[in-house]
Amino acid sequence: MTVTVRFAPSPTGYIHIGNTRTALFNWLFALKNGGRFVLRFDDTDVERSKSEYAEAIATDLDWLGVKPDRVEHQSKRFAVYDAAVEKLKSAGLLYPCYETTEELERRRKLRLTRRLPPIYGREALKQTDAERTAFEAEGRKAHWRFLLPNFKDDPFSPVRTEVHWDDLVRGPQTVDLASMSDPVLVREDGTYLYTLPSVADDIDMGISHIIRGDDHVTNTGAQIALFQALGAEPPEFGHHNLLTTISGEGLSKRSGSLSVGSLREAGYEPMAVASLAVLIGSSENVIAAADMQVLAEHFDPAATSKSSAKFDPAELDTLNRALVHTLDFEAVRGRLAALGIEGESAEAFWIAVRGNLGRVSDASLWWKIVNEGVHSTPDLSEEDIAFVRQAFDFLPPEPWDRQTWKIWTDAVKEASGRKGKTLFMPLRLALTGLSSGPELADLLPLFGREGTLGRRP
Ligand code: GLU
Repeated sequence: MTVTVRFAPSPTGYIHIGNTRTALFNWLFALKNGGRFVLRFDDTDVERSKSEYAEAIATDLDWLGVKPDRVEHQSKRFAVYDAAVEKLKSAGLLYPCYETTEELERRRKLRLTRRLPPIYGREALKQTDAERTAFEAEGRKAHWRFLLPNFKDDPFSPVRTEVHWDDLVRGPQTVDLASMSDPVLVREDGTYLYTLPSVADDIDMGISHIIRGDDHVTNTGAQIALFQALGAEPPEFGHHNLLTTISGEGLSKRSGSLSVGSLREAGYEPMAVASLAVLIGSSENVIAAADMQVLAEHFDPAATSKSSAKFDPAELDTLNRALVHTLDFEAVRGRLAALGIEGESAEAFWIAVRGNLGRVSDASLWWKIVNEGVHSTPDLSEEDIAFVRQAFDFLPPEPWDRQTWKIWTDAVKEASGRKGKTLFMPLRLALTGLSSGPELADLLPLFGREGTLGRRP
C-alpha cells in the first residue's frame, strides 16, 4: 500500500503554528514512509473561503519545505460528493429532516430534563411521505442526516456500539456511536458540511493515513462508520495534541496569532519554525533540525503527548539562533544581498558574524558597524579613552588576518600593563560601540587598518 496523507486546511484565514504542526506531521510521515502528500483545500464553504487564503497557505507550506504531490480544491469536486449522497440515499442511510434550529433546541432541553443524553432522537425517521410533502409545500427544505449504525433492529433504541482504532499518536481509542447524534451531512440549502466531502475525498484519493488535531477524535467514530457505509475500508488515524499560546489560549486563524506568514516576516528560519512545531509536546528533545530529513529522524508520532502543548516564542528564538550559527554563506547569500550585504567581503563577514546573530537580518547592524563605523558613542571613562587612543599607536602594518588582533593586543598589554577585561573591553567598545559581539580577531581584518584607525576616540 502506498502511504498517502493529506493536509486539509479550510482557506478561511492564514495558517498558524498549530496548523503547521498538522501539515508537518503529515509531511514527515509521508517522508519517512516513502509516501505521497495531498494538499486538499477544504473550501466547500464558499462564503468564508477565499482564494487569497488558499494561495497564502500554499506559500507558507512551500516556505516551510512542504511540497505537495497533489493539490485539490473541494469546491471543484462536488460531483464526487453528489455521488456519495446518492449512494447513501439509495442504501437508506441518509434521511431528510425538517426540524428548525429552535425545534431541535427545545427537544435537546427536554431530553436533558429527562436525564437522557442530549442527542438527536431520530424523530424525522418517523415522518411519513405525506408529512414531508406538507413541509415542502410550506417552503421548508430538508437537511440530511447520516443514520449511524448504532442499533440492532430498531433505530429508536440505540445500543452501545463501539468503534475502535489504534491511533498512531494516542494508541487504542474507542468511541461509542450511541453517544452521538446522527451527523448532518447536507444543509437545507444543499451545501455540504465538512464530514461527507472529507470522507468521500479520502476514499477517492486513496488516503491511507489521516493525521490531524485531537479536536477530531470524536468525529473519527462517525467518519469510520461513513467510510464503511460508502463501502470503503477506513484508513489509519492519528490525532496529535493541539498547541496553545504560552498563556494557554487556543490558537485561532482569525486572530493571526503566530501565523506562519508573520513568523516568516519576523525573519525566522523555516526549519526553526518546523522543528518547534513538530517537536514540542513530545518526549523527543526539541532540537533545531537542519533539514526535513533530520527532522524526520526525530519525528515519532507515538512520542507525542496527549495533553496540549504550549508554544513559547522564546524557544523559537533559541532554536533560530542555533540554526543561524550553522548556516553556510551559500544558504544566505540571496537574503544578505537583499539587505545590501554583498561584494568581496560578504562571505568573510558572514562567517565572522553569524555566531552572534539571533536572525539573519540582524547581520545588517554588523554590516553597518564594519563598513560605517560605530553608531553610538562608546561609554568609556576618561582613563579608558586615553588608554584606547594610545593603543591605536600599536596597530601593526597590513596585511591583516586573524592573528592581527593577538599581535596588536599583546603589544598593547605589554605597553599598558592592562590585561583581561580592562584590556579588551575598552577596545571592543571603541571599535564596535557595543560591549558584546563577534570575535574581534574576525572583525579586525574586515575593518582594515584604515577602518580601524577611523574608530580612534
Ligand atoms: N478542515 C478541517 C480542519 O482544518 C480538516 C480536518 C481533517 O483533517 O479531517 O479541521
